[in-house]
Amino acid sequence: MRNSVAGLTVRAPAKINLHLGVGAVREDGMHPLLTVYHAVGLYDDLSAIPAPDWRVGVDVEDYIDPAAVPLDGDNIVDRAATLLAAHHGVARSGDLQVTKAIPVAGGMAGGSADAAAALVALDRLWRLETSDEDLLALAARLGSDVPFALVGGTAVGTGRGEIVTPVADHGTWWWVVVLSPEGLSTPEVYRHFDRLFPDAPATPPAAGELLAALDSGDPHRLAATLHNDLQAPALDLRPDLARRIATGEAEGALRGLVSGSGPTCVFLCESGDHAREVAGALLAGSEPPVVLVANGPVAGAHVVTHG
Ligand code: ATP
Repeated sequence: MRNSVAGLTVRAPAKINLHLGVGAVREDGMHPLLTVYHAVGLYDDLSAIPAPDWRVGVDVEDYIDPAAVPLDGDNIVDRAATLLAAHHGVARSGDLQVTKAIPVAGGMAGGSADAAAALVALDRLWRLETSDEDLLALAARLGSDVPFALVGGTAVGTGRGEIVTPVADHGTWWWVVVLSPEGLSTPEVYRHFDRLFPDAPATPPAAGELLAALDSGDPHRLAATLHNDLQAPALDLRPDLARRIATGEAEGALRGLVSGSGPTCVFLCESGDHAREVAGALLAGSEPPVVLVANGPVAGAHVVTHG
C-alpha cells in the first residue's frame, strides 16, 4: 500500500484572455476557439491533508459571495478528485480546503484553477505520479480552461481552448483588475454571441500581431492588439461594463477589455506604478468597485508548501 504525504498547499492562478477569437458554433454545441491565455498573479490556494474520509471546504475573500460556490459534488474540486481517483482505481480520501481569491463566474477561470490545483495536490497526496500527459488529458475532461491552469505563463489555446501551446512572452505586463459583484454566466454570453453574430466564420480569428507584440515586450504594442470576441455580447448584456472600460481608459490605462466572458474588466498599464495610479483613480468613485493590481505571466498550479 502507498504511504500518503503529510499535506501540502497548491496555488493556482487566474487567467485573462489577451486574444479570444471565437468561431461559429459547431454541431456539438461548442465554439471553436483561438485564444491567448495569460496567467496573472491572483490566486486560489488549495490545501490538502490526509484524512480517512473525504471533505472539501471553501473559504472566500470578503469580495466573494460564499453562496456562489457549490459545496457538494457540483464543486469542480470534487469532480477533479473523482476523475483522478477513477483513473488510478483508488478511493478518494483527504481533507481539502480551498481559499478563493479569484472571483466566481468572473471570466477569470477560478473554478478551472481549483480543478488544476486539486489534480496537482491529490496526485501528490495520494502518491500517484500521474504523467504530465495524463494530467493534461484529465484536465481537459474537467473543462476547457483547466489544462491552461496547469501550464500557466502565456499560451495559445485551440480546440475548445483545451489544447495549450506555450508562447514566447518577454514582458512583465501590469494589469488593473476590476471585479463585478454580480457574475455573468459563460453559456449565456456564448448564446448571445450566436444571436449577435449568426454569420461568424467557422475558423476563429488568428492572433499573429498579438504574438509579435508579446515578443516585443512593448505594452503600447500589446494594448493595440488585445482582442475579445465575447466583449460585444458581454457589453450588450451588461452595459455598465462599457462605462467601466471607458472610465479606466479615461484614467490613463493603455487599454481596457472584458476578461473572457466577463464581467471582470482588465486594464493594461505601462508599469506597476502606473497600474497602482489607475487603480487608485478607479477606486475614487462614489460606489468603488473591488479593484486589484496583478502582473503576468505567472506559473500554473504549483506546490507552495509541504506540510
Ligand atoms: P470561465 O472563465 O472558465 O468561464 P468563470 O471564471 O467565469 O469561468 P468560475 O468561477 O470558474 O467562472 O465558475 C463558474 C461556475 O462554476 C460557478 O458559477 C459555480 O457555480 C461553479 N463552480 C464549481 N466549482 C467551483 C469552484 N471551486 N469555484 C468557483 N466556482 C465553481
